[in-house]
Amino acid sequence: MQQWTYVPSRSPVAKVQRRVVQWRRACMAQVESDRPVVTFTFDDFPKSALNGADVIEKHGGRGGFYACTSRMGQRSPVMGEMFDAGTLAELRHRGHEVGAHTHSHLDCAQSRLEKVERDIGENLVALSEAGHTETVSAFAFPYGETSYAAKRWVGDIFATGRGILPGINSGEVDRSQLRATELGASAMHRRRALAALKAALDANAWVFFFTHDVGTSPTSYGAPAELIDELAQRAVDAGAILAAPTLGAALCGVID
Ligand SMILES: [Zn+2]
Repeated sequence: MQQWTYVPSRSPVAKVQRRVVQWRRACMAQVESDRPVVTFTFDDFPKSALNGADVIEKHGGRGGFYACTSRMGQRSPVMGEMFDAGTLAELRHRGHEVGAHTHSHLDCAQSRLEKVERDIGENLVALSEAGHTETVSAFAFPYGETSYAAKRWVGDIFATGRGILPGINSGEVDRSQLRATELGASAMHRRRALAALKAALDANAWVFFFTHDVGTSPTSYGAPAELIDELAQRAVDAGAILAAPTLGAALCGVID
């Protein structure tokens, strides 16, 4: 049960470290795009995230699914059935991107770099053993927690690392701690998501959204399909591209 309920440290030291790490940019990159790019992402991830894939595809786009492999085939007491090898195959077939999210859902801010490397290595091996033999080039930090050393290493291994600091990615960014806005069921979530989308549309910027489960009555970690639908519709109407993480990075000039 512990692995499903871990909460990152809220100590003053952890808060200061979080702030310092946020400002220490590990992998500088420049977002330059003549069209806004919107990337919907799903962490951990429960099978119901496929409902999110359905919505994004309806609008002609694709999304990113960050797989925490120790949870593969498990049943989360919170989010229900987690992805399995069949889910990964289906996502590949439908053109979505499978990303890494550590094997054990590791708090990368509280772990030595060797442990982070080992855990992400296990994550990639487990994905490969589950039939996902493609190169994995997208990563998301569990809980958004990271260290400067972990960001540097993730930037060497992956094209993108996504955090959970809210905001849009425009101008100079850290491609190993890209900003992302959480989607959820509350009016506050919707308001913040619409504001982030508008900022990205106005600036031809890159905006990430993240959530976990998707449905008509999502958990407190998940988002309603209607919110994804509304955001995707507004984005496409404004000329944005709905792209998976690595394609988004390429479209924005963040990677070659
Ligand atoms: Zn996670």
